[in-house]
Amino acid sequence: MNNNLIELKTLLVFVLIIFNHAVAQQDVFIETESFKEKGGWVVDPQFVEQMGSPYLMAHGMGNPVSNAMTSVKFKKKGNYHVWARTKNWVPGNWQAPGRFKIIVNGKTLETTFGLTSGWSWEYAGVVNIESKKVSIELKDLTGFNGRCDAIYFSESKQKPPSDIEKLKAWRAEKLSENTSPSKEKTYDLVITGGGIAGCAAAIAASERGLHVALIHDRPLLGGNASSEIRVHTEGIYGKYERILKEIDTKHYPNGSYKSKIDQKRRDIYVKSFKNIDLFLNWRAYDAKAINNTIQYVDAKHTSTGEKIRFKAPRFVDSTGDGWIGFWAGAEFSYGRESKDTYGEGIDEWGELWSPEESDNFVMGSSVLWQNEISKKEEFFPVLPWAVDVAKDHKARAGEWFWEYSREDLNQIEDAEDIRDHMLRAIYGSFANAKKLEKNKFYKLKWVSYLVGKRESRRLVGDHIFTHNDVVNLTKFKDSVVMEKRSVDVHYQRNLKDASQPDFLSSALFYKTKKYYIPYRSLYSKNITNLFMAGRNFSCSHIGLGGPRVMLTCGQMGAAVGFAASICKKYNVTPRDVYTKHLKEYMDLIEDKK
Ligand SMILES: Cc1cc2nc3c(=O)[nH]c(=O)nc-3n(C[C@H](O)[C@H](O)[C@H](O)COP(=O)(O)OP(=O)(O)OC[C@H]3O[C@@H](n4cnc5c(N)ncnc54)[C@H](O)[C@@H]3O)c2cc1C
Repeated sequence: MNNNLIELKTLLVFVLIIFNHAVAQQDVFIETESFKEKGGWVVDPQFVEQMGSPYLMAHGMGNPVSNAMTSVKFKKKGNYHVWARTKNWVPGNWQAPGRFKIIVNGKTLETTFGLTSGWSWEYAGVVNIESKKVSIELKDLTGFNGRCDAIYFSESKQKPPSDIEKLKAWRAEKLSENTSPSKEKTYDLVITGGGIAGCAAAIAASERGLHVALIHDRPLLGGNASSEIRVHTEGIYGKYERILKEIDTKHYPNGSYKSKIDQKRRDIYVKSFKNIDLFLNWRAYDAKAINNTIQYVDAKHTSTGEKIRFKAPRFVDSTGDGWIGFWAGAEFSYGRESKDTYGEGIDEWGELWSPEESDNFVMGSSVLWQNEISKKEEFFPVLPWAVDVAKDHKARAGEWFWEYSREDLNQIEDAEDIRDHMLRAIYGSFANAKKLEKNKFYKLKWVSYLVGKRESRRLVGDHIFTHNDVVNLTKFKDSVVMEKRSVDVHYQRNLKDASQPDFLSSALFYKTKKYYIPYRSLYSKNITNLFMAGRNFSCSHIGLGGPRVMLTCGQMGAAVGFAASICKKYNVTPRDVYTKHLKEYMDLIEDKK
């Protein structure tokens, strides 16, 4: 190659680098969950798998929340096109409930956001950026759950992609993210999901000297028992009283503020274990199995977006939704089995209990809420966008039976729609109640924005626990969990009476003596190093009716934590604990009562 050609090539490469650099300078992408000050907005990480990211939501229960604020660096001053990824969560012939504004360097953009149905990029025109440090604020206009996922400034008018897979790649490029985490941590046991089951697993394993990671996507432990969701724990302690009584709750009414006392106690207790590394506000997003053995779980911080790869010889899925198993390729089930699949039908209750043909119904999800009586009259607006859900139903607070399930809605994939349906039911029913003179001093004090789930994926183990195990009170040689609380299976009231609102349920109770759950229902059938504890354990739909209560789930967690210590001692799989070390395992549980 002659010298001139080499020089020309070098120049071309140099020009390309400069050009690329200039292009890269022309846009700024901001994830709202990473805003420095959240103001009154909350980070919602519940629907990442479906919509692509955690987002900020203005959960003001009717009162506009204070502004969220951050500052970002622009490399270049000039004119920028502005988009926000947002959603009108109740599209219809009314003013959208979640409207908000964006303020750039103290100047409010003319566009009102939150107007388009479905997650999409809303365009706000061009803004002139006159400084390199730019402040950005989200200003809530309604107090009714406006939501903003991301904001994008670009010198080009190229709209960001909407397709979820393309958006994922585009987002990673804008954030210069590596697809895999650059940080790695190795443990004896990695537990994902910090509900009562996950906490109990972490404590039991840590007590046995295992170095444990507990990854939980919320700031507070306890799952549905947390003061963020406020369900009281039910069930018995079984053989794990010592552990469970430190993390359970008193029997306050569901939705009570008293849950905060138990929350404090639980958090302090779990944090007191030196062997447990707590990853609060970290959400697992992937698990990789090779030859049916999980190699790692990847998790991401719900605000900063930082990623960590967690490695371990064994893993526990206590996410409730069976996420780790799902990503790793574990067998799972969803929906109701036909009454003949396991012979679980009860004639008296027919289809409401167990259907002729299997279907996709499951017990539903709930949003709990609570009022307060004020000294002065309290105003609550009329909400046209809530009327078609609430209809003329009136209520001042919610209880467990505020529950939503439909066969065509998946409790995982459609969870945001389910949560939003419950919000409309709550706001609408409260607005109806407020029309009555007797309720004029009532104020909406607390509405959870986290959806409390009862049932979704159930991972398949060596034994599928069914209602027959309850009816027969089967004593397994590996009975590690026991319960005597009545089994209750829920159905939507409108299935029996079409005039009932679609967001209320009823329970069918089956009284029982003490029944048992075998260890074989607590590890995956086809993923060699995966335990499961909590409502995603191996059971049928009806089989879940009893053991889903939180102390039973907690017993599963503790049982799995102890089993993990046997696995470590002999370097064996969860199944080997049953086939080769059962006596030692059962003795250990007995010893550690
Ligand atoms: C309204 C309502 C009333 C109920 N009434 C009762 C009752 O009175 N008493 C009772 O004991 N039970 C009751 N239940 C049932 C019970 O709450 C659940 O079955 C139970 O919480 C399941 O426990 P778990 O530990 O498996 O899951 P959860 O309590 O749901 O905990 C799992 C946790 O994992 C986290 N998580 C999920 N995915 C990830 C991820 N990818 N990365 C990191 N973290 C993740 C979630 O945020 C969640 O907090 C009720 C449920 C509801 C909704």
